[in-house]
Parts: sequence; structure tokens; C-alpha cells
Amino acid sequence: MKLMRKFILMMGAPGVGKGTYSRMLSKDLKVPELSSGEELRKLPLNEDTVNIKEQMNRGELVDNEFVINLIENRLSRNTYDGGAILDGFPRNLYQAKYFDEKSKLDLVIKINLDEEIIVRKLLGRRVCEDCGKGYNICNIKEGEYDMEPLLPRKVHNKCDDCDGALIERKDDNEETIRQRIVLYNRMTQPLEEFYKSKGRILIFEPKRGLKDYPNLINLVRKEFDI
Ligand code: AMP
Repeated sequence: MKLMRKFILMMGAPGVGKGTYSRMLSKDLKVPELSSGEELRKLPLNEDTVNIKEQMNRGELVDNEFVINLIENRLSRNTYDGGAILDGFPRNLYQAKYFDEKSKLDLVIKINLDEEIIVRKLLGRRVCEDCGKGYNICNIKEGEYDMEPLLPRKVHNKCDDCDGALIERKDDNEETIRQRIVLYNRMTQPLEEFYKSKGRILIFEPKRGLKDYPNLINLVRKEFDI
């Protein structure tokens, strides 16, 4: 396979599976992933970050300049010389326009899911407290939706990759989830039009969870002719 030097944005409401699919694509395409939410969660709690952490816990977007500086700092590392699969950044028009002036996105993958399914998925989400890998305890069988739980295969409640404990994210409670979805619809959804006007955007609706991943990787391979 040709080596990829690409910037891919994973876009979609909270809970659609951006992080999970990013990790899978990253392995298959050999392009590292970069999640703004994950980078923000990894920051130590101190006087410079206390407001940021509170905003995150309330489900609000954090300050544009802060996120942009953080992401630019991470992207300047050698790890990302070959590009990145971006999860969660850019997240509003200001960030999208800023990023667009610096580096072009080669592909935007927009993941769509029904809103009530998203709420159930987020309530069932568990994440590794050490490496951030996502799991899910909910089992959704409804109409065309058939999503099995995504549980650790090795030890109950421990991450398969690093043995870390699986926990619920502070912002995965129903009130904050609904607030994040409202904000997503208002601030992030408009990026779909922005990127449509710029070029390549691929729409993906994974009604069968991970079982739909082969469709996604095939679509991406076709896009890049690899
Ligand atoms: P996520 O892990 O993508 O769900 O992000 C968790 C939280 O981090 C969001 O609810 C925001 O508070 C914050 N966040 C992540 N990415 C951004 C961004 N690009 N701009 C502003 N806030 C962000």
C-alpha cells in the first residue's frame, strides 16, 4: 500500500463513533489520529486549565484560541509529518476557516446517526481512563439499527489495549449530552456545507456499528485510489 500523507477530518455529532472509527482507520491507513477532546482531557488540571475543564464538563465548546494553539502544537510534532486523522477539530466555522488557510483537508468523513440513538449510545459509553479507547455497554436493536455492545474481550471493565480501568466520561450524562447535541447542530453541523463547497466529503451512516466499518474503509480507499 502507498504511504498516505493526508489530513482527514472525522465529523459528526458527539457519540456517532468518530473516535472509534478514527482509531480503526488510523491503523489501516497508517495515519496517526489526533483528537482535540482527548488532548484537552489529557491536560493536567491547574490554574490555566481549570476553566477549560469546567467548560468541557458542562458540554460547552472551549475557547477557539486555546484549542487552535493546542492542535497546532501537536501537529508540529514529527508524528504528524505524514498528516493526521482529525477527530473533533475543526468544530466550528472559525476553526475551519483558520485551519483551511494553513493546511487543506484531503477528505471529510461525515458520520450520521439518529439523535435518540446517539443519546443511548453516549449513556452506554465507557472509556479507558488511561488511553481513551472507547467501549459501549448498550445493545441497540431497533428498525434498521443493529448495534451490539462493544465490550472488552480480555478482562471485565479493563481496556484490551492497556489494561486501564473503564469509566464514564463526566460529560456523558443526559443533560450535558443534550446540550452538546444542541451545540453541535448550531456550531458544527454548518461545516458540512462549508466542506461540501470546498471539495470532498463522504457521508457514512453506520447503522450496524462496527460491522459497517468495512464499508467505510472501502469508501476511503476508493477516494484515495489505494
Ligand atoms: P469530544 O471528546 O470530541 O467529545 O470533546 C469533548 C469536549 O472537549 C467538548 O464537549 C468540548 O468541550 C471540548 N472540545 C473538543 N474539541 C473542541 C474544539 N475543536 N473546539 C472547542 N471545544 C472542543
